[in-house]
Amino acid sequence: MNTMDDTATFEALTAPILEERPWSAFAACQEVKDVSFFPQNKSQERAAAAICGICPVREECLDHALATNERLGMWGGVSEKRRRALARAS
Ligand code: SF4
Repeated sequence: MNTMDDTATFEALTAPILEERPWSAFAACQEVKDVSFFPQNKSQERAAAAICGICPVREECLDHALATNERLGMWGGVSEKRRRALARAS
């Protein structure tokens, strides 16, 4: 059950993220509880990529990860290994 305190705590925790990444308010992953976006194997990576594939802010997410050199996790449907390859190629 959500209480007013839960809502206030959630807003306090998410406000800095939304300020830095306003597009994340539309992220498909925020609705998903049973998929890890820090996958530990190919199966988990495919599950995360499937969600990213339908995300309306996929491009913004990947741009952010590349611009900030995010090292871990799935961003914009692109794994950390693939992002490293993209960075080397650019
Ligand atoms: S592209 Fe993937 S990781 Fe990025 S916001 Fe969308 S669902 Fe989340």
